[in-house]
Amino acid sequence: MINDTIKVLTDLQEIDVKIHALEEEKRKKPLVLEEEDKAVTILKEKLASLQSSHKDSRKEIDQKELFLKEKEDKVLKLNVQLNTIKTNKEYSTLQHEISGVKADMSVLEDEILGFFSRAEQIQKDTESAQKELEVALKKRDEVAKEVNAAVAEVDKALGELYVKRSEFAEKVPSGFMTIYEKIIAHTVNKTALAQVIEEVCQGCFMDVSPQEINELMRGKDIIRCRSCSRILYL
Ligand SMILES: [Zn+2]
Repeated sequence: MINDTIKVLTDLQEIDVKIHALEEEKRKKPLVLEEEDKAVTILKEKLASLQSSHKDSRKEIDQKELFLKEKEDKVLKLNVQLNTIKTNKEYSTLQHEISGVKADMSVLEDEILGFFSRAEQIQKDTESAQKELEVALKKRDEVAKEVNAAVAEVDKALGELYVKRSEFAEKVPSGFMTIYEKIIAHTVNKTALAQVIEEVCQGCFMDVSPQEINELMRGKDIIRCRSCSRILYL
């Protein structure tokens, strides 16, 4: 009687170990996708930052161009003034002022050129980041498809195993199922039974006493390991 129960329970355990492994596989499969999502997020952030730099650059150019326009207007005004000048001293003071404004203009022009070439570089970087993002999104989609297919396959196998499990569970005499479930809830590898080989429990590798071995051989009751609580069998 006990031996029959042990037999059904070991069969059940075999199924549960497989179920546990597949559930783990199912849990881990989408983790690959997280990596792809991370790559996409990083690229999106990079692109957003480049776009914002491009905007800033354009703003900077507009502002400098406005300053330049103001300086041009000022030079025009000063040149008009130059025609109305009476003394040499006034003339040279005004000339000096015009040269100063022109020097400022030259600095502004250089700055504008600098901003233009920076904006151009940002534009190039933006385009390549966009391409990188497209590639990453495509890869993410492919990986998602693979993951979904793999998960579907695992689900199918799990479905079959769960059906098989309930068939086996029905064969377990009442009371034993509760004990079995309680033990597997606490073991990492989801095993509730352990064979005894050379007086050692194969679940936790602790010694089993000769008296317990005798009781196991008698096969009247279930004997549980004193260390790991697993149901022992020979
Ligand atoms: Zn044990």
